[in-house]
Amino acid sequence: MSNAVIAVDGPGASGKTTVGRLLAHKLRYKFLDTGAMYRAITWAALEAGVSPKDSRRLVSLAQEQRMEVAFQQDGQGLVLVDGRDVAAHLREESVEQSVSLVSQVPGVRDILVELQRRVAEEGRMVMAGRDIGTVVLPHAPIKVFLTASVAERARRRHAELQASGHGVPYQDVLEYLAKRDKLDSERKVAPLRPALDAHVLATDGLSAEMVVERILEMVRLQSWA
Ligand code: C5P
Repeated sequence: MSNAVIAVDGPGASGKTTVGRLLAHKLRYKFLDTGAMYRAITWAALEAGVSPKDSRRLVSLAQEQRMEVAFQQDGQGLVLVDGRDVAAHLREESVEQSVSLVSQVPGVRDILVELQRRVAEEGRMVMAGRDIGTVVLPHAPIKVFLTASVAERARRRHAELQASGHGVPYQDVLEYLAKRDKLDSERKVAPLRPALDAHVLATDGLSAEMVVERILEMVRLQSWA
């Protein structure tokens, strides 16, 4: 099942998406950002007026919504909710504020993990998230866990936000990332932590290209790539 799937985990703004996308492109693999799935279900809940604290209704909503992943020609996985592309909503402030609460709910995770495993069966894929190496695909042949100091991650996220026209102060980004780290690391189900057999890469001071090159070296040592 997890043949030729590279798991890339790490905290918020550690570079999983940038690195994962570039890595997938170089290998001609598909790329799936599982954070987008948790964000999509959070967005759907907010749209439906379901509180991010109401576990029971969140699970019902996750069961009722038809969530799918469609891969585009360039290999990028697009998350569809009831056939609708919701990408434009996934970085909205309300989603940012609630996603870590929604993703703590075990019943919601069960549904998304099952879908992630099904998608992974296609193989030749880079899958990014928090628990890909520990829970979703414990037998993935390559697991990478990206880390970076919270200050470095806040700097990266702040620059991204500025580039997209969102003038959020750096200090707010820093505090928000620290809060999400805490929620993601301390939750009972699938907490953020590296798998025992993950390659932990500290990315402070490294460009995405440099990180990708290190992962490609690991891939070259494997015969299936
Ligand atoms: O990676 P991203 O910042 O988009 O993830 C948003 C949130 O989704 C994370 O803070 C985490 O709570 C949740 N998540 C998760 N498991 C994953 C991916 C994301 O719990 N595999």
